[in-house]
Amino acid sequence: MLAILLFAAATTVPARIPIPAAARPSPTFDVEAATDAYLAEIPPAAKARSDAYFEGGYWLILWDFLYGAIIALILLQFGWSAAMRNLAERLTPLGPLRTALYWVQYLIVISILGFPLAVYEGYFREHQYGLATQTFGPWMFDQFKGLMINLIFGALVMAVLFGIVRKLPNTWWIWGAIVTLFFLIFAVLIGPVYILPLFNKVTRLTDPNVTQPILRLARANGIPANDIFEVDASRQTTRMSANVSGFGTTMRITLNDNLLRRGSPEEIQAVMGHEMGHYVLNHVYKSIVYFLVLIVVWFAALQWALTWSLQRWGEKWRIRGIGDTAILPLVLLWSSLFFILLTPVLNTMIRAHEYEADMYGLNASRQPDGFAQAAIHLSEYRRMSPGPVEEWIFFDHPSGRNRILAAMRWKAENLDLFAAPRGTPAPPKR
Ligand SMILES: [Zn+2]
Repeated sequence: MLAILLFAAATTVPARIPIPAAARPSPTFDVEAATDAYLAEIPPAAKARSDAYFEGGYWLILWDFLYGAIIALILLQFGWSAAMRNLAERLTPLGPLRTALYWVQYLIVISILGFPLAVYEGYFREHQYGLATQTFGPWMFDQFKGLMINLIFGALVMAVLFGIVRKLPNTWWIWGAIVTLFFLIFAVLIGPVYILPLFNKVTRLTDPNVTQPILRLARANGIPANDIFEVDASRQTTRMSANVSGFGTTMRITLNDNLLRRGSPEEIQAVMGHEMGHYVLNHVYKSIVYFLVLIVVWFAALQWALTWSLQRWGEKWRIRGIGDTAILPLVLLWSSLFFILLTPVLNTMIRAHEYEADMYGLNASRQPDGFAQAAIHLSEYRRMSPGPVEEWIFFDHPSGRNRILAAMRWKAENLDLFAAPRGTPAPPKR
């Protein structure tokens, strides 16, 4: 039954998207008409489904926050957080180890309490919309691996951050932000090379029909890549994606198998042009600067909010101060409120980079139709035509309609590249 459902979902949008008549080069080529013609390729049922999926995502932001807030308040109000701290203190006299032991208990407890929403969001809902490909067992195993990574790395991060808070209780938010940033950079650095293979098989692509056009595009744009990798994302999802990741020697281009299987060659080049844009425009380094500012503001706001909360409820919750690990549920509660309020700012920050990469990708790949085809494929899980305010608040990429519009605008200004070769007159007979 599930297999039939999945098959039906996968076939609602055609694997290869043809170029609609209004988007073919002609003397009367019209950007709006070409855009509408592409949008019309999405069957109404598929559009209704992806709109529902995406809108549901807006509500999930709220439900995730409320559900997380209730868990945090349970841990504080019923003294569970203080009890976990006390247990950690009985087990070891070492400060950093106590913090790590608190983290292990805390993460296991919130994973269990948060499981009902997590399983709905990550498993049942994804299957309901035909985006997931895993059965329950492998999905659970992936969750378990994620939890293990979080236990180990989280314990390390927590031990260091709480150490800083205890040593520098007034200025921790500056030093803590810098250290957090280094952990983030480390995660970005090792993620694609050491973490991704724990979940997926990463293989080197060898088919020159696929690799040569991508490597040519890379070389032409000054990207020092020799190899292209494929990741079997279809193990978990039907979504298509690609990326250029890492720094220096970990730099690599990765395409997922959904893109390779379902995308046209033009589409693959358009997507790679976009990803190379992120690399050439140094978006990783720019994001690091933005994030440093964001983390400093976040931690400064935390310092204020935690002090305020402890004055009111600190004694009741048996939290001894800002450096006490038992404060962690409160930290998470304030942080999730901070990030929910910052949703439009964060999304706009990311969307600005995505728009730049779109423009770069169109110029580099010269595949406006491939780009429009990719936008249609991404419409399986993104709403295509939101209102401007909706796009500003919720979209971390330009909307599908705006991406197709940009592609058709580019095409309109470069129609000579796509004009069908004129019938060359037969050579004169002698
Ligand atoms: Zn991007």
